[in-house]
Amino acid sequence: SVSDSEWSYHDREFVKVGDIRLSPATHALNYGTGVFEGIRAYWNEAKGTLQVLKMREHYERFVTSCKMVHLDLDHTVDELCEITLEVLRRNAPRVDTYIRPLAYKSATSIGVNLQHEDTLTIFTAPMGNYVELTGLRCAVSSFRRVPDNSLPARAKTTGSYMNTALAVDAAHRAGYDDAIFLTQNGLVSEASAANLFILRKGKLITPPPTADILEGITREAVMELAKEEMDLDTVERDVGRTELYAADEVFLTGTGFQIAPVVEIDDRRVGDGTVGPVAEELQTLYFRAARGEWDKYSSWTVPVQVP
Ligand code: PMP
Repeated sequence: SVSDSEWSYHDREFVKVGDIRLSPATHALNYGTGVFEGIRAYWNEAKGTLQVLKMREHYERFVTSCKMVHLDLDHTVDELCEITLEVLRRNAPRVDTYIRPLAYKSATSIGVNLQHEDTLTIFTAPMGNYVELTGLRCAVSSFRRVPDNSLPARAKTTGSYMNTALAVDAAHRAGYDDAIFLTQNGLVSEASAANLFILRKGKLITPPPTADILEGITREAVMELAKEEMDLDTVERDVGRTELYAADEVFLTGTGFQIAPVVEIDDRRVGDGTVGPVAEELQTLYFRAARGEWDKYSSWTVPVQVP
Protein backbone atom coordinates (compact mmCIF):
# COMPACT_ATOMS: atom_id res chain seq x y z
CA SER A 1 0.00 0.00 0.00
CA VAL A 2 1.00 3.61 -0.46
CA SER A 3 2.04 5.42 2.71
CA ASP A 4 0.68 8.91 3.48
CA SER A 5 4.15 10.00 4.55
CA GLU A 6 5.75 9.29 1.16
CA TRP A 7 6.70 12.09 -1.22
CA SER A 8 4.86 12.35 -4.49
CA TYR A 9 4.53 14.83 -7.33
CA HIS A 10 1.03 16.18 -7.65
CA ASP A 11 -0.37 19.12 -9.63
CA ARG A 12 3.10 20.60 -10.26
CA GLU A 13 4.40 20.29 -6.69
CA PHE A 14 6.28 17.80 -4.55
CA VAL A 15 3.89 16.94 -1.72
CA LYS A 16 3.31 14.19 0.81
CA VAL A 17 0.74 11.66 -0.40
CA GLY A 18 -1.35 12.31 2.71
CA ASP A 19 -1.71 15.99 1.77
CA ILE A 20 -3.38 15.30 -1.58
CA ARG A 21 -7.09 16.01 -1.60
CA LEU A 22 -9.43 14.92 -4.38
CA SER A 23 -13.06 15.80 -4.90
CA PRO A 24 -15.48 12.90 -5.26
CA ALA A 25 -16.61 14.67 -8.45
CA THR A 26 -13.16 14.22 -10.04
CA HIS A 27 -13.84 13.36 -13.68
CA ALA A 28 -11.42 10.42 -13.85
CA LEU A 29 -12.82 8.87 -10.68
CA ASN A 30 -16.29 8.95 -12.16
CA TYR A 31 -15.52 8.06 -15.78
CA GLY A 32 -12.12 6.36 -15.85
CA THR A 33 -10.61 9.19 -17.91
CA GLY A 34 -6.98 8.72 -17.01
CA VAL A 35 -3.83 7.04 -18.21
CA PHE A 36 -1.05 5.58 -16.14
CA GLU A 37 2.25 3.73 -16.14
CA GLY A 38 3.94 1.20 -13.94
CA ILE A 39 7.72 1.43 -13.65
CA ARG A 40 10.00 -0.61 -11.44
CA ALA A 41 13.12 0.48 -9.64
CA TYR A 42 15.19 -2.44 -8.39
CA TRP A 43 17.34 -2.09 -5.26
CA ASN A 44 20.96 -2.95 -5.94
CA GLU A 45 22.51 -3.66 -2.55
CA ALA A 46 26.10 -3.89 -3.82
CA LYS A 47 25.94 -0.46 -5.49
CA GLY A 48 23.66 1.22 -2.96
CA THR A 49 21.47 2.36 -5.82
CA LEU A 50 17.95 2.00 -7.06
CA GLN A 51 18.01 0.99 -10.72
CA VAL A 52 15.06 2.54 -12.53
CA LEU A 53 14.22 0.15 -15.36
CA LYS A 54 13.36 1.37 -18.87
CA MET A 55 12.17 4.72 -17.50
CA ARG A 56 12.38 6.58 -20.81
CA GLU A 57 10.45 3.83 -22.65
CA HIS A 58 7.69 3.96 -20.03
CA TYR A 59 7.39 7.73 -20.30
CA GLU A 60 7.37 7.56 -24.08
CA ARG A 61 4.42 5.17 -23.85
CA PHE A 62 2.83 7.43 -21.22
CA VAL A 63 3.05 10.44 -23.54
CA THR A 64 1.55 8.38 -26.39
CA SER A 65 -1.27 7.17 -24.12
CA CYS A 66 -1.99 10.78 -23.15
CA LYS A 67 -2.13 11.88 -26.77
CA MET A 68 -4.62 9.13 -27.62
CA VAL A 69 -7.14 10.30 -25.05
CA HIS A 70 -6.54 14.06 -25.32
CA LEU A 71 -4.66 14.47 -22.06
CA ASP A 72 -2.29 17.40 -22.27
CA LEU A 73 0.67 16.83 -19.98
CA ASP A 74 2.76 19.97 -20.48
CA HIS A 75 5.83 17.89 -19.62
CA THR A 76 8.46 16.38 -21.87
CA VAL A 77 9.75 12.83 -21.41
CA ASP A 78 12.97 14.32 -19.99
CA GLU A 79 11.05 16.38 -17.44
CA LEU A 80 8.97 13.37 -16.40
CA CYS A 81 12.15 11.35 -15.87
CA GLU A 82 13.71 14.16 -13.83
CA ILE A 83 10.60 14.56 -11.63
CA THR A 84 10.56 10.79 -11.03
CA LEU A 85 14.19 10.76 -9.96
CA GLU A 86 13.47 13.60 -7.52
CA VAL A 87 10.51 11.70 -5.98
CA LEU A 88 12.79 8.67 -5.56
CA ARG A 89 15.60 10.75 -4.06
CA ARG A 90 13.15 12.22 -1.53
CA ASN A 91 11.68 8.85 -0.56
CA ALA A 92 15.06 7.08 -0.72
CA PRO A 93 13.67 3.54 -0.45
CA ARG A 94 16.23 0.76 -0.01
CA VAL A 95 13.87 -1.89 -1.41
CA ASP A 96 12.39 -2.76 -4.80
CA THR A 97 9.96 0.03 -5.63
CA TYR A 98 7.07 0.59 -7.98
CA ILE A 99 6.56 3.99 -9.58
CA ARG A 100 3.07 5.02 -10.66
CA PRO A 101 2.69 8.03 -12.98
CA LEU A 102 -0.97 8.93 -13.40
CA ALA A 103 -2.45 11.63 -15.65
CA TYR A 104 -6.14 12.24 -15.49
CA LYS A 105 -9.06 14.53 -16.17
CA SER A 106 -9.38 16.42 -12.93
CA ALA A 107 -12.43 18.62 -13.60
CA THR A 108 -15.17 18.42 -11.00
CA SER A 109 -17.99 19.17 -13.40
CA ILE A 110 -20.44 16.58 -14.66
CA GLY A 111 -20.23 15.88 -18.38
CA VAL A 112 -18.51 13.14 -20.31
CA ASN A 113 -16.11 14.33 -22.93
CA LEU A 114 -12.37 14.90 -22.88
CA GLN A 115 -12.33 18.71 -22.89
CA HIS A 116 -11.41 19.13 -19.26
CA GLU A 117 -8.28 20.11 -17.34
CA ASP A 118 -5.58 17.54 -16.68
CA THR A 119 -3.54 16.70 -13.60
CA LEU A 120 -0.33 14.71 -13.30
CA THR A 121 0.52 12.72 -10.18
CA ILE A 122 3.53 10.47 -9.62
CA PHE A 123 3.78 8.32 -6.50
CA THR A 124 5.82 5.33 -5.41
CA ALA A 125 5.25 2.22 -3.32
CA PRO A 126 7.45 -0.66 -2.18
CA MET A 127 6.84 -3.72 -4.35
CA GLY A 128 8.29 -7.21 -4.23
CA ASN A 129 7.03 -9.94 -6.52
CA TYR A 130 3.55 -9.12 -7.81
CA VAL A 131 2.87 -12.77 -8.67
CA GLU A 132 4.62 -16.07 -7.89
CA LEU A 133 7.55 -16.69 -10.21
CA THR A 134 7.59 -20.46 -9.71
CA GLY A 135 4.67 -21.42 -11.92
CA LEU A 136 1.22 -19.88 -12.31
CA ARG A 137 -2.09 -21.64 -12.88
CA CYS A 138 -4.17 -19.64 -15.37
CA ALA A 139 -7.54 -19.88 -17.03
CA VAL A 140 -8.80 -18.39 -20.28
CA SER A 141 -11.26 -15.69 -19.28
CA SER A 142 -14.88 -15.58 -20.40
CA PHE A 143 -14.41 -11.80 -20.48
CA ARG A 144 -12.89 -10.80 -23.82
CA ARG A 145 -10.16 -8.18 -24.00
CA VAL A 146 -11.64 -4.77 -24.88
CA PRO A 147 -11.05 -4.26 -28.59
CA ASP A 148 -8.80 -1.43 -29.73
CA ASN A 149 -11.76 0.11 -31.54
CA SER A 150 -13.67 0.45 -28.26
CA LEU A 151 -10.87 1.47 -25.88
CA PRO A 152 -7.37 2.13 -27.21
CA ALA A 153 -5.58 -1.11 -26.30
CA ARG A 154 -2.11 0.35 -26.71
CA ALA A 155 -2.87 3.21 -24.35
CA LYS A 156 -2.66 2.29 -20.69
CA THR A 157 -5.96 3.89 -19.67
CA THR A 158 -7.37 3.63 -16.17
CA GLY A 159 -10.88 2.84 -17.44
CA SER A 160 -9.79 -0.26 -19.31
CA TYR A 161 -8.68 -1.88 -16.04
CA MET A 162 -12.29 -2.63 -15.19
CA ASN A 163 -11.97 -5.23 -17.94
CA THR A 164 -8.83 -6.50 -16.18
CA ALA A 165 -10.45 -6.48 -12.76
CA LEU A 166 -13.45 -8.49 -13.98
CA ALA A 167 -11.24 -11.14 -15.53
CA VAL A 168 -8.78 -11.41 -12.62
CA ASP A 169 -11.57 -11.45 -10.07
CA ALA A 170 -13.35 -14.30 -11.86
CA ALA A 171 -10.06 -16.23 -12.15
CA HIS A 172 -9.26 -15.78 -8.45
CA ARG A 173 -12.76 -16.79 -7.37
CA ALA A 174 -12.37 -19.97 -9.43
CA GLY A 175 -9.03 -20.71 -7.75
CA TYR A 176 -6.63 -19.66 -10.55
CA ASP A 177 -3.71 -17.24 -10.28
CA ASP A 178 -4.46 -15.18 -13.37
CA ALA A 179 -6.65 -14.81 -16.46
CA ILE A 180 -5.72 -15.04 -20.12
CA PHE A 181 -7.72 -12.80 -22.43
CA LEU A 182 -8.88 -13.72 -25.92
CA THR A 183 -9.72 -11.06 -28.50
CA GLN A 184 -13.26 -10.67 -29.84
CA ASN A 185 -12.16 -13.09 -32.60
CA GLY A 186 -11.11 -15.73 -30.10
CA LEU A 187 -7.36 -15.33 -30.59
CA VAL A 188 -4.99 -15.18 -27.65
CA SER A 189 -4.38 -11.57 -26.59
CA GLU A 190 -2.52 -11.29 -23.28
CA ALA A 191 -2.85 -12.00 -19.57
CA SER A 192 -4.47 -9.61 -17.09
CA ALA A 193 -1.56 -7.19 -16.88
CA ALA A 194 1.18 -8.99 -18.76
CA ASN A 195 2.03 -10.08 -22.29
CA LEU A 196 2.12 -13.75 -23.16
CA PHE A 197 4.74 -15.89 -24.90
CA ILE A 198 4.60 -19.53 -25.87
CA LEU A 199 7.45 -21.83 -26.80
CA ARG A 200 6.42 -24.45 -29.32
CA LYS A 201 8.72 -26.77 -31.28
CA GLY A 202 11.68 -24.61 -30.28
CA LYS A 203 10.07 -21.37 -31.54
CA LEU A 204 9.27 -18.42 -29.33
CA ILE A 205 5.90 -16.95 -30.32
CA THR A 206 3.91 -13.97 -29.03
CA PRO A 207 0.64 -12.39 -30.20
CA PRO A 208 1.13 -9.31 -32.43
CA PRO A 209 0.22 -5.71 -31.53
CA THR A 210 -3.01 -6.14 -33.51
CA ALA A 211 -4.24 -8.71 -30.95
CA ASP A 212 -5.44 -5.84 -28.71
CA ILE A 213 -2.39 -6.12 -26.47
CA LEU A 214 -0.69 -3.38 -24.54
CA GLU A 215 2.66 -3.09 -26.30
CA GLY A 216 4.70 -4.19 -23.32
CA ILE A 217 8.13 -2.87 -22.54
CA THR A 218 9.09 -6.14 -20.84
CA ARG A 219 7.86 -7.94 -23.99
CA GLU A 220 10.43 -5.97 -26.02
CA ALA A 221 13.13 -6.58 -23.43
CA VAL A 222 12.47 -10.33 -23.48
CA MET A 223 12.60 -10.44 -27.29
CA GLU A 224 15.95 -8.65 -27.13
CA LEU A 225 17.40 -11.02 -24.50
CA ALA A 226 16.10 -14.11 -26.32
CA LYS A 227 17.73 -12.98 -29.56
CA GLU A 228 20.95 -11.63 -28.16
CA GLU A 229 21.69 -14.15 -25.43
CA MET A 230 19.90 -17.33 -26.54
CA ASP A 231 19.92 -16.94 -30.34
CA LEU A 232 16.16 -17.29 -30.28
CA ASP A 233 14.07 -15.15 -32.64
CA THR A 234 10.51 -14.33 -31.58
CA VAL A 235 7.71 -14.75 -34.08
CA GLU A 236 4.90 -12.22 -33.65
CA ARG A 237 1.80 -13.94 -34.98
CA ASP A 238 -1.77 -14.88 -34.10
CA VAL A 239 -1.99 -17.56 -31.43
CA GLY A 240 -5.03 -19.84 -31.23
CA ARG A 241 -6.50 -20.83 -27.89
CA THR A 242 -5.59 -24.50 -28.15
CA GLU A 243 -1.98 -23.64 -28.94
CA LEU A 244 -1.84 -22.73 -25.26
CA TYR A 245 -2.60 -26.36 -24.50
CA ALA A 246 -0.14 -27.66 -27.11
CA ALA A 247 2.74 -25.38 -26.07
CA ASP A 248 5.91 -26.70 -24.46
CA GLU A 249 6.21 -23.53 -22.36
CA VAL A 250 4.08 -20.48 -21.63
CA PHE A 251 5.23 -17.45 -19.71
CA LEU A 252 3.98 -13.94 -18.95
CA THR A 253 5.98 -10.73 -19.07
CA GLY A 254 5.33 -7.35 -17.49
CA THR A 255 6.75 -4.73 -15.19
CA GLY A 256 4.73 -6.13 -12.28
CA PHE A 257 4.72 -9.80 -13.35
CA GLN A 258 8.39 -9.70 -14.38
CA ILE A 259 8.93 -13.09 -16.11
CA ALA A 260 6.27 -15.41 -14.74
CA PRO A 261 6.16 -19.01 -16.03
CA VAL A 262 2.72 -20.62 -16.44
CA VAL A 263 2.55 -24.33 -15.58
CA GLU A 264 -1.17 -24.96 -16.02
CA ILE A 265 -3.90 -23.49 -18.28
CA ASP A 266 -7.58 -24.46 -18.06
CA ASP A 267 -6.71 -27.48 -15.90
CA ARG A 268 -4.21 -28.80 -18.44
CA ARG A 269 -0.50 -29.03 -17.70
CA VAL A 270 1.71 -26.81 -19.85
CA GLY A 271 4.48 -29.10 -21.15
CA ASP A 272 5.25 -31.44 -18.29
CA GLY A 273 3.71 -29.05 -15.75
CA THR A 274 6.98 -27.64 -14.45
CA VAL A 275 8.83 -24.39 -15.21
CA GLY A 276 10.48 -24.76 -18.62
CA PRO A 277 14.19 -24.13 -19.33
CA VAL A 278 13.62 -21.15 -21.68
CA ALA A 279 11.42 -19.26 -19.20
CA GLU A 280 13.88 -20.04 -16.41
CA GLU A 281 16.86 -18.82 -18.41
CA LEU A 282 15.06 -15.63 -19.48
CA GLN A 283 14.08 -14.96 -15.89
CA THR A 284 17.73 -15.15 -14.80
CA LEU A 285 18.94 -12.95 -17.66
CA TYR A 286 16.17 -10.40 -17.09
CA PHE A 287 16.83 -9.95 -13.37
CA ARG A 288 20.54 -9.55 -13.94
CA ALA A 289 19.96 -6.76 -16.48
CA ALA A 290 17.05 -5.14 -14.59
CA ARG A 291 18.90 -4.96 -11.28
CA GLY A 292 21.83 -3.21 -12.94
CA GLU A 293 24.20 -6.16 -12.45
CA TRP A 294 25.14 -6.52 -16.11
CA ASP A 295 27.28 -3.86 -17.77
CA LYS A 296 26.20 -4.93 -21.25
CA TYR A 297 22.66 -3.78 -20.42
CA SER A 298 23.55 -0.72 -18.35
CA SER A 299 21.49 1.43 -20.75
CA TRP A 300 18.33 -0.31 -19.49
CA THR A 301 18.51 1.31 -16.08
CA VAL A 302 19.09 4.72 -14.51
CA PRO A 303 20.82 4.55 -11.11
CA VAL A 304 19.61 6.64 -8.18
CA GLN A 305 22.03 6.88 -5.30
CA VAL A 306 20.22 6.23 -2.01
CA PRO A 307 22.04 7.55 1.05
N1 PMP B 1 -0.59 -5.73 -20.76
C1 PMP B 1 -1.28 -5.06 -19.82
C2 PMP B 1 -2.75 -4.96 -19.95
C3 PMP B 1 -0.60 -4.48 -18.75
O1 PMP B 1 -1.28 -3.82 -17.80
C4 PMP B 1 0.80 -4.59 -18.67
C5 PMP B 1 1.54 -3.97 -17.52
N2 PMP B 1 1.88 -2.63 -17.80
C6 PMP B 1 1.47 -5.29 -19.68
C7 PMP B 1 0.74 -5.84 -20.71
C8 PMP B 1 2.96 -5.40 -19.69
O2 PMP B 1 3.55 -4.17 -20.05
P1 PMP B 1 4.97 -3.74 -19.51
O3 PMP B 1 5.90 -4.85 -19.84
O4 PMP B 1 5.29 -2.52 -20.28
O5 PMP B 1 4.85 -3.52 -18.05
